[in-house]
Amino acid sequence: MVVKADAPVFTILAASDDYLKVTSVTREQVLGKGFFEVFPDDNDDPDNENTARKVFTKVIETREKLDVPVYIYDIIDPETNTRQQHYWSCSNIPVLDADNHVEYILNTVVDITGEVKAKEAAIESENRLLLAAEATGLAIWDFDIQNVSFTYSPQLVEIFGLDSDANFTISDIGKQVHPDDMQNIVLKAYYESLITGYFSYEVRIYKPDRSLHWVRVKGKVLFNSKKEPVRMLGTLVDINESKQDEIRKNDFIAMASHELKTPLTSLKAYLQLLSAKLAGSPDPFINTALLKAGNQVNKMTALIHSFLDISKLEPGKLQLVWQSFDLNKLIEETIAESRILTSSHHIRFEPQNVIHVNADRDKIGQVIGNFLNNGIKYSQRGTSITVCCEVLDENVRVSVTDEGIGIRQKEQEKVFQRFYRSEDDDLKTISGFGIGLYLSSEIIQRHKGKIWVKSTEGRGSTFYFSLPLTTDQPTSS
Ligand code: ADP
Repeated sequence: MVVKADAPVFTILAASDDYLKVTSVTREQVLGKGFFEVFPDDNDDPDNENTARKVFTKVIETREKLDVPVYIYDIIDPETNTRQQHYWSCSNIPVLDADNHVEYILNTVVDITGEVKAKEAAIESENRLLLAAEATGLAIWDFDIQNVSFTYSPQLVEIFGLDSDANFTISDIGKQVHPDDMQNIVLKAYYESLITGYFSYEVRIYKPDRSLHWVRVKGKVLFNSKKEPVRMLGTLVDINESKQDEIRKNDFIAMASHELKTPLTSLKAYLQLLSAKLAGSPDPFINTALLKAGNQVNKMTALIHSFLDISKLEPGKLQLVWQSFDLNKLIEETIAESRILTSSHHIRFEPQNVIHVNADRDKIGQVIGNFLNNGIKYSQRGTSITVCCEVLDENVRVSVTDEGIGIRQKEQEKVFQRFYRSEDDDLKTISGFGIGLYLSSEIIQRHKGKIWVKSTEGRGSTFYFSLPLTTDQPTSS
């Protein structure tokens, strides 16, 4: 738009189509009219330097271009005939006459309402997120991998017990993480996340007073178009209280299981004595009853042992006893033990050569026993259970296949979680605590091995684990 510098009228001499369109006026409504007749200066705040009158006056005085990056001016929407607040950005260029006086002002405007509203919405949603994070004690952080720059919300410094003005770098964080957890959890999760794109773990951090606190870290990795990791975004939350509760609960389970073990051991000894004394008794009921009682005591002992093991899963508590042994022999022994407990299934195993592994013999036996017991528990009497042990490249793979009820696809990855039991109502009658597979998975992972399942609902399942055949002893935790 071109206006004449004839203050205070500022006659409109010309207007472009675009100017008319954004300001919702017609050419007839503006040409030859005073600028303020068409666009009344609706902001009479004396301190506001951005009113059109002040801006035009200043351009005439200074003879210099004057931009107003953002100002508010309401326009009447021709469709609804209502006033609507709009944000504008304008530029005012003086056109001088021969005497160097301002003759016209070239006034251009851009409607920036969309951008301003979007920015306001973004700020509002960020504020809302920060408020929610503050209310829940959640720290939010962002690590720019390529520029090694680390930004975070104030909760992060608070959780790490530092002054709010402390300038915290990613390596400062590393220094406060417990060295064992740094090695076994953080670095492992970091490298895994570069493949999976996600990370979630719990670690111990040292506060400046050297007290240890548990925190949970969760987040995702962003990749560029070349699939290179560029950013890591995540949350960090103090879970010390709930973790301490969990540790107390585990300690209680450990203590209770320990106390239960003593009377059970004497019960077993008395049963053995009784069996010896009554061996050859003509009453067949006595022999069967003693055998069944013995089996039940064995079952209960195994259960108590698995509770004890759960409580040992805290970092540093599950100690592996490394030794070299023949895996086929261990499988045979475990099958023989299962046969003592039940003769309801045909357990098949055809060992090939001797397979030496370096591992914790008892714990691996526990995993095989668990696979076998589940196979028995979750399949019909009289069906077969097939055990295989084979060497594949650098690993040995053990599998236990049953012809049982199988596991639904969506449940298959959950069965290794702690306390997970099938949601199927029909299975609620089958006894169990949902800890066997969790324990097995922890044991195998601590051997740097792998554990997995393949299953078809209604047809049966195969549970596998594999162990590396190296003679190196992985660092136990
Ligand atoms: P538990 O058997 O004591 O419930 P586990 O940790 O050994 O605990 O197994 C977890 C769940 O996995 C079981 O509750 C069951 O739903 C499922 N599951 C395990 N093994 C089998 C199997 N061989 N066939 C079908 N379902 C199985």
